[in-house]
Amino acid sequence: MKTDIIIVGGGIIGLYSAYTLALRGLSVTLCEQGQVGGECSSAAGGILSTLLPWDYPPAINQLISNVTHEYQALSEQLLASTAIDIQLWQCGLHARLNAEEHAIALNWCKNSNTDYSEHEGGLQLERVAQLEPVSLIKALHTRLQQLDVTILDHTQVDSVAVQQDKVSGIHTAQGFIPCARLLWTTGAWAKTLSAYQGRLEAPAVRPIKGQMIAFKAEPGLLTHILYHAGHYLIPRKNGLILAGSTLENSGFDQTVTTHALQLLTQKSIDLLPALKDCEIIQHWSGLRPYSETEHPIIAEHADIKGLYLNCGHHRYGICMAPQSADRIAQLILA
Ligand SMILES: Cc1cc2nc3c(=O)[nH]c(=O)nc-3n(C[C@H](O)[C@H](O)[C@H](O)COP(=O)(O)OP(=O)(O)OC[C@H]3O[C@@H](n4cnc5c(N)ncnc54)[C@H](O)[C@@H]3O)c2cc1C
Repeated sequence: MKTDIIIVGGGIIGLYSAYTLALRGLSVTLCEQGQVGGECSSAAGGILSTLLPWDYPPAINQLISNVTHEYQALSEQLLASTAIDIQLWQCGLHARLNAEEHAIALNWCKNSNTDYSEHEGGLQLERVAQLEPVSLIKALHTRLQQLDVTILDHTQVDSVAVQQDKVSGIHTAQGFIPCARLLWTTGAWAKTLSAYQGRLEAPAVRPIKGQMIAFKAEPGLLTHILYHAGHYLIPRKNGLILAGSTLENSGFDQTVTTHALQLLTQKSIDLLPALKDCEIIQHWSGLRPYSETEHPIIAEHADIKGLYLNCGHHRYGICMAPQSADRIAQLILA
């Protein structure tokens, strides 16, 4: 098999990177150990913003500075080519804040030219948008097939072959696949990077479990994302209201727990009392890729030529995917 680049990991970061590289003329092969989009990316809420932007350093906000515009363009392309709607919706984010937080937020909005409106006990960021991650994954997957990207699902990469400090291929249970360029987008599993015939430092990324629930409500009960004290509600146009999320340092365990269900239910009702009459119809979890530096790793590997890393996006992989893909593509094509 001849390919310009192999991408390992079929979450949003791998898919968006594959899309960007295919559009720039590379022949791409993507290996996914399970099903494409089967891990963290499908568990996301789909908010296209950091939860409270004033709590984050400029480098993080910079990575998502143009995100609504980027997904608007993608949404139109995907709808035209695949007929799948990623349900992009600029619904705004309303943050309930105490007086001290309110002053910090106001200052940040003014300094960063961010559109906002003030409400009693809070502040609304008018331009924050959301999308539906499962539809996004499905649409990108379909588009990649149209672009002749080779997608090998149920193909776990066991090790990377390295010769004279250069990537030479990958070892999978199905055999060896040669390549001169490799992109590692394995999310919470990024640390499993290991090399055959060569030293290799794995990225410092570990899993942080997040659990969410979904209430079935009447459409229109909530029309913007609502945030308070670490908890948020995301309304969908069909009436679903997603509530999240936990942050759990429990390794690769993905079990959903009664404790989290009770906690998320109570916090949701505190935020929006009408939810006490709504049925909870889903409860799920995902493993976020937490980077020890608190910044995603978007770089060529320090020791191995041809090995690129795009991982560690923790809570914001959906929003950071477009710019992360663009940055890694620029490095790969330089
Ligand atoms: C509850 C929750 C809510 C969230 N909400 C938001 C949100 O509102 N907005 C936002 O921007 N982000 C959100 N996130 C974060 C976002 O989901 C992640 O940052 C993003 O999904 C990470 O994408 P990824 O492609 O790096 O990882 P993943 O989606 O986990 O993909 C990595 C893939 O690599 C595969 N893989 C691993 N090792 C190998 C191997 N050796 N060989 C082959 N394949 C391999 C895995 O099977 C997996 O499919 C949320 C996350 C959670 C859990």
